[in-house]
Amino acid sequence: MSHHIVLLPGDGIGPEVVAATTRVLDAVGDFTYETHLIGGIAIDETGNPLPDETLAACRKADAVLLGAVGGPKWDTTDPGRPRPEQGLLGIRKGLGLFANLRPVKPLTALLDASPLKRDRIEGTDLLVVRELTGGMYFGRKERTADRASDENAYTRVEVERIARVAFRAARRKVTNVDKMNVLEVSRFWREVVLDVHAREFPGVVLDHMLVDNAAMQLVSGPSDFDVIVTDNMFGDILSDEAATITGSIGMLPSASLGEEGAPGLFEPVHGSAPDIAGTGVANPLATILSAALLLRHGLGRSDEAQALESAVDRALEGGLRTPDLGGSAHTDEATRAVLEQL
Ligand code: NAD
Repeated sequence: MSHHIVLLPGDGIGPEVVAATTRVLDAVGDFTYETHLIGGIAIDETGNPLPDETLAACRKADAVLLGAVGGPKWDTTDPGRPRPEQGLLGIRKGLGLFANLRPVKPLTALLDASPLKRDRIEGTDLLVVRELTGGMYFGRKERTADRASDENAYTRVEVERIARVAFRAARRKVTNVDKMNVLEVSRFWREVVLDVHAREFPGVVLDHMLVDNAAMQLVSGPSDFDVIVTDNMFGDILSDEAATITGSIGMLPSASLGEEGAPGLFEPVHGSAPDIAGTGVANPLATILSAALLLRHGLGRSDEAQALESAVDRALEGGLRTPDLGGSAHTDEATRAVLEQL
């Protein structure tokens, strides 16, 4: 079956890694593509970091693959001028992407590239499910000369829908992370998670951890986790902490999902890397692995997702190393190494 994917290459190395990724996607399935503007290039061509046509095309797509946005050319402190990041925030909001998924699975060949000891991280295969559109980052903000506050609020619907994403993604168990010993919003959060579990997913193992403990367990025993579900702020912090396990920013994929049936957005965690843009050495693996998430979580094509991920793993085992991993392979060589394994 053919699926329609909107490509948003964006700025810097974005177009380079997205082009590499469509070559790989074409090797595993039948896709049609439509390319649209976002970020700095969209500002240059239309004056708007998220043109209306881009958002309209994304809404009609089966999934969206994004490269990166931003760069020194568009850096400005003038609040009246458009900024590339507004394109990113606008598309997350416009597509209602409330769930951010970041898998953390150190590839066998890169175990020694992690700052953590090999025996601690071996076997780690976890997924952080972060609520992305509620909580403290979106609460009412108040400020007087002597006091400031950010409201940390969640509604039942917001907690239920993120809990469902986590339970659906679980293979072994879900670990709910909160701060229920102190925060009322966490006590509510935990009650709603327990409720969704009892009513809809009684077969999935569910445990709970306070966020301070979770921060320790993530580095002392990351392989004990399967799916972690948590709120916007705790998820922001824990997903970056978990990311250090894999070693390089050029390797980290992410998925942002909305309501069932709505298109998801898939993108590498890294930015537009202006320092290496145009030199042909960008590591395309984070974007290729984001395409694997697109296949699995966006299109329900798990077999092809698995094929892609294991091709990346085998290419690395075969010695593939881009400069960020300490080698000298260019984007094109890296792409061909993955294609050969497919
Ligand atoms: P960055 O992730 O672009 O780069 C950080 C460092 O990692 C750089 O040395 C870069 O060369 C390297 N790097 C990043 N991706 C790589 C890859 N695929 N292969 C090899 N090396 C890679 O972060 P930054 O330098 O802080 O930001 C640069 C620009 O990107 C800024 O304008 C920033 O706002 C933007 N940005 C965008 C996103 C996004 O689009 N999601 C995310 C972060 C930063």
